[in-house]
Amino acid sequence: MGLRGWTYSDVVGRRFVVALGGIFVALVVSYPYLPVVTDASSNLWIVLGVLVGIPGLALLYGGYQLPQSDIRPELYPTVGEWCLRGILVGLAIVIPIVLASDDPDIVGNTLLLTALGSFAGFGAGRYDARAKTRRLELQETVDQLETSNERLERHRQYTDDILDAIDDVFYVLDESGSLKRWNRSLSKVTGYTDEEISSMTVADFFDEDSDVATAAVRNGFESGSVNVEISIRTKDGDTVPFEFVGSTLEDTSGDPVLAGIGRDVTDRVERERRLKESNERLEQFAYAASHDLQEPLRMVSSYLRLLERRYSDDLDEDAREFLEFAVDGADRMRDMIYGLLAYSRVETKGEPLEPVDLNEVVGDVLEDLDVQITESGPDIEIEELPRVMGDKGQLRQVFQNLISNALEYSGNDPPQVRISAERNSSTWEVSVRDEGIGIEPDEQDRIFEVFQRLHAPDEYEGSGIGLALCERIVERHGGDIWVESEPGEGSTFSFTLPAADDRSE
Ligand code: ADP
Repeated sequence: MGLRGWTYSDVVGRRFVVALGGIFVALVVSYPYLPVVTDASSNLWIVLGVLVGIPGLALLYGGYQLPQSDIRPELYPTVGEWCLRGILVGLAIVIPIVLASDDPDIVGNTLLLTALGSFAGFGAGRYDARAKTRRLELQETVDQLETSNERLERHRQYTDDILDAIDDVFYVLDESGSLKRWNRSLSKVTGYTDEEISSMTVADFFDEDSDVATAAVRNGFESGSVNVEISIRTKDGDTVPFEFVGSTLEDTSGDPVLAGIGRDVTDRVERERRLKESNERLEQFAYAASHDLQEPLRMVSSYLRLLERRYSDDLDEDAREFLEFAVDGADRMRDMIYGLLAYSRVETKGEPLEPVDLNEVVGDVLEDLDVQITESGPDIEIEELPRVMGDKGQLRQVFQNLISNALEYSGNDPPQVRISAERNSSTWEVSVRDEGIGIEPDEQDRIFEVFQRLHAPDEYEGSGIGLALCERIVERHGGDIWVESEPGEGSTFSFTLPAADDRSE
């Protein structure tokens, strides 16, 4: 609609309305001086002044004020068009009047009717433009809603795609155990369709373990989180071990839900099973070897002793010394075999863990070590010790090894031993401290390995299995054992044990 760069809205828009008003006002002011005017009486001028001037001024003002109205600028031409229509209607009325009259005042009538027509047109135009503005706004709101709906849908699709790209199962459960949301992996793993899943509850996915699953969900909602290892039963009847973790949150309606992931742990379970099997085989081997070695060793020892008893007088000094070495070696070998036997039986021959009073355990050990204690004359200080969850017989072995080491490796001075315990949330840390020869820092890990000794047998006696046994026993109790030591200053062996709380007593 360009007219030398003018747009349609310029031609019949707001300026058009203002110009129209201006023209009417100008024409009415200059009416008596218009060359075509025949009757320029002042009465007529006043009438025209009112009936043309007021619509003219109204158009001027109305056109000027359009931006203050709620009409959209692109709809100003509607107002202009209606003004034009009003003028056309005015002109259509003028024609029969002129034809019917003998002496018509063509200019006056035309001016009057077009002014009134355009004023009425302006009113109708404003009304129409306002209605169109409303329609436009409504349309825009609808468009915006559609766009945000599309965006929302795209966003949801995007999160669905992300969740579907995860191999792990994603789930959202409500308090009744029904699935509110899940990803494609759940169908892949279980073999159920999305439609089937939508009407299932948690219990339906776990055949024999359904009680465990229901309890896990209930606990999850109570405690705020869940972590459970449980086997899924697929639609085909297969069993797949899974680990589920999750935590509670609120859904869009503010209701609590449990959301998280489930991971197929078949590989890990299989690895653990193989490791357990191989450990068991090793234990059986160590047990069988040490057990079967006892018999021939016993034979060697007893014949050596027989030799010593019966033929000692016939042997020279060297032969007697050799025999002594052989007996000594056989004795050490026996100790090692006993140690190995005990070591291989920690898991298989252990008693169930129950509350144990460590004061009693240490008391028994000190009685057992009576000979060694009398020989070395130590200063032993024992603090009040706690009750722990443990295997009494095995804990006795731990204290026996640690206390006899503390006495053995005390150096030249009389041994100073201190046994204490410190509570650390649900565990007790027990320490056996000596002021003996100490251990070099780079030897401190090695001493917990089987048959690892830092000294020659003629220097300090021992089989090198005591600390390895301690470590294995403490591990069976779910604890750790370690040493802190300064060479020449002493050593502190510490280990943790589960506390026996009131419930288990
Ligand atoms: P052993 O029967 O030789 O004592 P252990 O396994 O009990 O076997 O100890 C391994 C080694 O650790 C010992 O040979 C010794 O060198 C060192 N050791 C153990 N306890 C102490 C201690 N209290 N002070 C210094 N060294 C120690």
